[in-house]
Amino acid sequence: MINIKGLVKRFDQLEVLKGIDLSIEKGQVFVVIGPSGSGKTTLLRCLNVLEIPSEGAISIDDKSLDFSNRIAKKEIESFRRKSAMVFQHYNLFPHMTALQNVMEGPVTVKKEDREKAREKATTLLNKVGLGDKLDYYPHQLSGGQQQRVGIARALALEPEVMLFDEPTSALDPELVGEVLQVMKDLAGEGITMVVVTHEMRFANDVANKVIFMDQGKIIEQSAPSEMFTNPQEERTRQFLNLIK
Ligand code: ADP
Repeated sequence: MINIKGLVKRFDQLEVLKGIDLSIEKGQVFVVIGPSGSGKTTLLRCLNVLEIPSEGAISIDDKSLDFSNRIAKKEIESFRRKSAMVFQHYNLFPHMTALQNVMEGPVTVKKEDREKAREKATTLLNKVGLGDKLDYYPHQLSGGQQQRVGIARALALEPEVMLFDEPTSALDPELVGEVLQVMKDLAGEGITMVVVTHEMRFANDVANKVIFMDQGKIIEQSAPSEMFTNPQEERTRQFLNLIK
């Protein structure tokens, strides 16, 4: 489903991703962990081509991009539609209601019919438990509710893969559970997910595989039971000890 080969990303002199190779099968949940600055967010942003990788190739489903060639904007746009991102700070449009936020992508990006988009957005907001908040603006919603709108908005794009960039790290502790529950439900439905998070319980309960990154490289990847009880690499062990 997703194949990443030799992915390198530099910001000027700084090499942030140093040759990432990774394969993810359809329906799997991959959780990415690692110290701050190790390149986790950049990896997700490269998958969604919010950052253009410096080298390497990525394929998602039937589309691939080889970054050693110049790539037309149109190609990037159609590749981007294979995935949808849920951001740490929700990034909702403040002047739009929950319903309008969820309808926006389908109507403007996918040119869907407004009525159809409204129906789908209503269904998705119901699914994330916000059926009674359709006409609320972001500032009238709690952080957890805003993030659930963020998830509904990403789902509305009907992506092949959902990318979550620390979706609960801006939330007050008592609001984390409701967002993780929605994510667990999605995982249960077989949606392919890549999740950057510090929520180790979520990783343990939901992930098929946990990836440990450090300094722009994948140091280790394994099933959560293996990663959390018997990490193979010293660096992984040190990191896991620090966050316990
Ligand atoms: P993580 O998500 O693991 O905390 P990031 O991917 O956010 O790590 O960042 C990895 C490194 O890349 C950091 O050193 C960060 O400062 C740098 N970086 C990220 N985005 C940019 C950017 N747009 N310009 C310059 N440096 C960046």
